[in-house]
Amino acid sequence: MTCEACTTASHNPATGRFHADCPECKARALAQGRELFESKRAGIKSPEYAKALSQVFGEGNEEAGHARVREWAKKIRQHQKGTTT
Ligand SMILES: [Zn+2]
Repeated sequence: MTCEACTTASHNPATGRFHADCPECKARALAQGRELFESKRAGIKSPEYAKALSQVFGEGNEEAGHARVREWAKKIRQHQKGTTT
């Protein structure tokens, strides 16, 4: 948790608040984004999603970034299922 928006996200992962300079927020934004959604639907990383990963996390860090995006996606899913804490 590195910024105010991340603090909000720790209570509400589905928040629409993002901080532009925060890598954690960017991971969270990708977790809510169309690129990941399309990739999941297709069952592969879409070129758009792969591009977004390298833009956000840097070339060579895509897999680490993807892992973080997946963690956020999981938190958001659990939150939406109604585990309101
Ligand atoms: Zn943040």
